[in-house]
Amino acid sequence: MAIIWPYPASVSSYVAAGRQIEVPPQRCPACQRQLVGWGGYWRWVRAPLVVERIWIRRGRCAGCRRTHALVPDLALLRRLDVVTVIGTALVLKVIDGVGLRPIAEQLDVPHTTLRTWWQRFRTRSLLLLSTCTRLVVALDGTPVDVRGVGEQAALEVLSLAWQRAAARFGLRIGGGTMWAFWSWISGGLALGTHTTSPWAAIPGADWMRASPSPGGPDP
Ligand SMILES: [Zn+2]
Repeated sequence: MAIIWPYPASVSSYVAAGRQIEVPPQRCPACQRQLVGWGGYWRWVRAPLVVERIWIRRGRCAGCRRTHALVPDLALLRRLDVVTVIGTALVLKVIDGVGLRPIAEQLDVPHTTLRTWWQRFRTRSLLLLSTCTRLVVALDGTPVDVRGVGEQAALEVLSLAWQRAAARFGLRIGGGTMWAFWSWISGGLALGTHTTSPWAAIPGADWMRASPSPGGPDP
């Protein structure tokens, strides 16, 4: 299983850190014990002007002995491209109505790759919409007024959830980009193939119950 953690800096600084990349302490999603370092592995990442390998640390739980890949929220699992590039493509398609081929050229990604992102996003957009609606309501208890439909509505509510999470919890969550937030709430599987919902058990969902910011509304 993978744990997505918020990485506060740029892709190039992650690349530059190499195997020295520092990951904040993480807890086992199954039993909440703190993980200990358990090696890691290289994976490729593609960003504008960057195609590099990055070091993904692993953590192991002393209790249940499971190991977890500790993946920065700048990426999704099993997707080469950084999440901001994927997100930019989705906004161009959904909000600006640009065709897939021009987007592929503009972002310099293969057309087939882009088509896969789009198909996966469409398939999962209803799930994204319902998850983010739940999140928004859990965050501040106010109802959600969505104006768009379909994929537009999904992006609209994702944006709302990210803004409210950032407003309430500050840089600890959603301090990067909306797309990093998207990676995080999906456990890196925002464009996964699984038919079961990775959103069902939102990794780190305990932040909704624990330590609301001073002066913030109660859940
Ligand atoms: Zn464990």
